[in-house]
This record gives sequence, C-alpha cells and structure tokens, in this order.
Amino acid sequence: MIYRLFLLLLFLLPLAGCGSSADSAHSDLSERSVRVVATTSMIADIVRQVGGERVEVEGLMGPGTDPHLYKASEGDVRRMTDADLIFYNGLHLEGKMGEILERMADRTAAVTDEIDRDRLFAPPEYEGNYDPHVWMDVSMWTQAAEAVADRLAALDTTHAVDYRARTEAYVAELDSLDRWVRAEVERVPEALRVLVTAHDAFGYFGRAYGFEVHGLQGISTATEAGTADVQNLATFVAERQIPSMFVESSVPARSIEAVREAVRARGFEVEIGGNLYSDALGGEDSGADTYVGMIRHNVNTIVGALVGEPVAER
Ligand SMILES: [Zn+2]
Repeated sequence: MIYRLFLLLLFLLPLAGCGSSADSAHSDLSERSVRVVATTSMIADIVRQVGGERVEVEGLMGPGTDPHLYKASEGDVRRMTDADLIFYNGLHLEGKMGEILERMADRTAAVTDEIDRDRLFAPPEYEGNYDPHVWMDVSMWTQAAEAVADRLAALDTTHAVDYRARTEAYVAELDSLDRWVRAEVERVPEALRVLVTAHDAFGYFGRAYGFEVHGLQGISTATEAGTADVQNLATFVAERQIPSMFVESSVPARSIEAVREAVRARGFEVEIGGNLYSDALGGEDSGADTYVGMIRHNVNTIVGALVGEPVAER
C-alpha cells in the first residue's frame, strides 16, 4: 500500500511543479501560438500586424469603448491570467485598470514606453501626467509597433526574425500613411485648420499635422465638461466661424450637441462634420476596424467637412 502511494507521489510531483511557474508556462511556445491580451483595439491591431499567425490576440475593449472609464471584467482577468503577454497603452489611458495591470506586472508591457518623453505633452490640467493619445500622430505610433515587436521577439525568440520582417513592412505602411495625411490636410485652407471635438484626444494629431485643437472635455473623459466649458467653446466656434465640429465614437454625442445649441444662440450655425474614431477602432464593417483604416476615416471626415465636400465624397 505504502509502495503504491509512493509511486503515485512520484508521478504527481513533476506535474505540480509544472503548472506553478510562469517560466514553464512559456516553455511550450514551440507547440502553440503566443497568447496576447491587448487593452485597446488600436493595440490589438498592432499585435495582429506584427505577430501575424504566430500570435493569438484578445482585445479587451471593443468598438465604441472608452478606455479612460473601462474596468476589467472577471472574464478579462481570466484572459489576462492565461496570457503570455499583456500589451497596454500606459500613460494612464487605462485609468481604471492600474491595479490589475500592476498585479500582472510579470507579463505586461506598455506600448508607449519607448516613445521619447520629450515628444509627449504634459498638460497642466492632467495632474502631471502625459497626454496618452499618442496613436493620433502616426510617426509616434510606429514606435509603439516597434515596442510590441521587441517584446514578442524577446519572448518567442525562434520567430524573432519573422516579427522583425513583419514590423519593417508595417512601419513602411505607416510611413506612407503619414505622408498621405500630410498631403490631405494641405487641402484645408490654413485658417480653417481647427479641430473641435468632444474630448482632447487630438493634441498629437494637431501638432503633427498643423491643426489647432479644441476638445470640450479634457484629456480624460473621467472629468465631465461643465456649463462654462460649453459656453467658452461655443464663443470660440462662433467668433472664429468654424464650419464643422466632430463627435467621437467613444464619447456620447450629447456633449458636442450642447455646444452646437450654444453656438446657435450666438447667431452662428456650425455643422456636425461627422464621427471620428478617437479612443477605439470602429466595428467590422466600418472601414475603421484597423489602425490604418481609423486614421484614413478620420482624415477623410475632417478634411471633407472643413472644405465643404458632400458627405458621400468623404
Ligand atoms: Zn481619450
């Protein structure tokens, strides 16, 4: 009897050792794909572009989801626990996920870590934090793609060469996207290069492509816009005779509608120029379900509205 118990223990011990360490969980990468969790849909897209078929990506935040307010569900925690790597934006974009990301620190990577700090805005009203919306400047987002590639290559070394090749091709695509944006915005008369949106997601876009940017809410949607914010923005829009303002897919439209009413009260009519994807990609048939599609949609909408093209042509 004792002998049989001993045999059973011999059999069980190695199994017990196996499941407990993170290292051994990674050791079977030769037999399966890399499991990645990404917080925002923009990051999930980078991982798909860089990782290709080697990587299984689960994005936590779907279309229309506001990352500033998003809280991890129980299912998210399970997915994160099972993941080899968790990519998040960082710079406090995922403002309500700080604790869970910290708890998973052995497998997390912020895609903004390699972006030079002197390229980041630190708006005084954002309490010493940087503006996290770096994807709005295509040249900055290429650095995020490189950060993802570095982590994947370090974890899954046998496929490092593939990750590098895919990243090089993707960065070339982003470079050409960046040039396309620059050429498109040239069509807008300089005096009209003003972008009025629901929240301050477009600061880096404005700096990169020469737009003056005004958001109704601040950098984070966690702070509601007050009556004074609505009135101040309305005064600005009416005085400057800005033809169009924009709503955002991840922020309720009512806030920007309130500005429109206040502009009307000042005797000026401002159009809602369309819907911009700011903090989340669009759904499957939106044409904005990839990062490249998102930027193209936004630029077509902004440029089309400001130069007065009919909606069908944007
Ligand atoms: Zn935002």
